[in-house]
Amino acid sequence: MTKDTRLVYSTDPALNRKCEKCKELVSECTCEPEVDPKSYRFVAVLRIEKQGRGGKTVTVVDRLPKNELFLKNLCTTLKKKCGAGGTYSTAGKDGVIEIQGDKRETVRAVLEKEGISSKG
Ligand SMILES: [Zn+2]
Repeated sequence: MTKDTRLVYSTDPALNRKCEKCKELVSECTCEPEVDPKSYRFVAVLRIEKQGRGGKTVTVVDRLPKNELFLKNLCTTLKKKCGAGGTYSTAGKDGVIEIQGDKRETVRAVLEKEGISSKG
């Protein structure tokens, strides 16, 4: 009786998928799992900050889910509606979007339309 010693590779496409962030196999990936923004309720916090020595005003949208795609899409929408530049970040504890200028009114209206609660 011969024993089959061939290695069996997984054909499960979910296991052979690569992580979009680190390009490792999902099974090897140690990235922080992304949060599904639809999986929980959150309240975005708006605030105005002065940045740099020039004291440029930015509207900060804090306490957002750490989800790259969600932040990217929301940032794009906000930039378009505000007619201003902006960036997003997942570096901190929460996702953060920054829009140049004092755009609280516009940002609040956009968030409301997207079904996102906000305060500040
Ligand atoms: Zn990864």
